[in-house]
Amino acid sequence: MQEFNYYMPTKVFWGPECLKKQGNAIRSIGKRALVVTGKRSARASGVLDDITGTLGGAGVHFAVFDDIEPNPSIATARRAGKAARSFGADMIVAAGGGSPLDAGKAAAVMAANDREDDDLFAGRYAGPVLPVVAVPTTAGTGSEVTPYSILTDPAMKTKRNLKSDRLFPVLAFLDSRYTDSLPPEVTAHTAVDALTHAVEGFLSTRSTPVADTLALRSMELLGVELPKLRSGAPDRDGRENLLFASLLAGYVIAQTGTTVLHAMGYHLTFFHGVEHGRANGLLLAPYLRHVRNGQPERVRSVLASLGCEDVAELESMLGVLLKRDVILTEREAGEYSLIASQAAGAASTDPRPDADDVRSMYNAILRA
Ligand code: NAP
Ligand code: FE
Repeated sequence: MQEFNYYMPTKVFWGPECLKKQGNAIRSIGKRALVVTGKRSARASGVLDDITGTLGGAGVHFAVFDDIEPNPSIATARRAGKAARSFGADMIVAAGGGSPLDAGKAAAVMAANDREDDDLFAGRYAGPVLPVVAVPTTAGTGSEVTPYSILTDPAMKTKRNLKSDRLFPVLAFLDSRYTDSLPPEVTAHTAVDALTHAVEGFLSTRSTPVADTLALRSMELLGVELPKLRSGAPDRDGRENLLFASLLAGYVIAQTGTTVLHAMGYHLTFFHGVEHGRANGLLLAPYLRHVRNGQPERVRSVLASLGCEDVAELESMLGVLLKRDVILTEREAGEYSLIASQAAGAASTDPRPDADDVRSMYNAILRA
């Protein structure tokens, strides 16, 4: 068997009301919490009430920063970091989709490290990083168990990854009831994000035997649950399976990172406003056709665990779930291809795509 290492420091609690039962565990890591959330959904999902009730009951002082937008910018994360500093926070409780979780993780760095962007992204900071408690309300990013915070950088016109082992949340609470309020399209987009994490991790040059095992189970669950999304909102078991698949896929990318597929998707999000999961999903079939050139067996395993005969079957299943409305000009496709082919994710894609390969992946789906 190949050599590998495995690191996963996040203590995960799973199940209905798991958060409310763990006031003491939360108090053991901090006494003053900045709660970082999005604008609306933390209230709609009930997670904010559960958090404030639990913190209050445990004698933890808190303030709420509820101004995180989808695909959060570096500037928003800096504002949250400043709010943490002014409040004298000694921990961050981040609740919501991947956007508030990532902004909360960045705020945990920025609270005590007021440095230039390039220093932060290069890990050149010496101050402490506040401990993070993560409570996901989407089933997709797995950010509650990853060392990544993905932030939008308007100056560089793309997303950047603030990555550090110190960004693994200390505690994560997964309660699928918080995902009940998700609208159908967000349920689908986020589930497809989880799918791409499992698939990319499995096909990455950085895959490991542990990550493979987790990825295969995640894909099996998603192969059952994704087609069901066509006929309405998932039931309790469906919501649990989606959240569990997302958790497993988060464990996968925490080890392997993502690949060129995510690097390509970032451009659709930044320049065309396509939601993160949908952006990746629109490009998944052409990506698999590219990877199949070098790893036919591995791609067959992906399709088998999803219960699909071939890439075309997966493509038509995704076609029902994801709106295809992206129009790229020749120039745009060319520019994005050049950048994505130089991204870190391209280097962990096997076979490694050059700009022409990336261009054909964009063309295959977006110009059809
Ligand atoms: P999101 O951007 O966090 O949320 C999308 C939308 O869903 C928002 O409008 C949000 O509303 C709403 N929403 C969230 N939970 C809801 C609920 N329970 N009920 C109703 N509405 C709800 O979406 P996401 O796909 O979870 O996260 C995407 C971000 O995560 C991207 O920036 C992506 O790059 C990043 N990501 C990070 C990692 C990682 O490892 N760190 C991995 C993959 C992706 P509000 O705005 O009101 O909250
Ligand atoms: Fe993702």
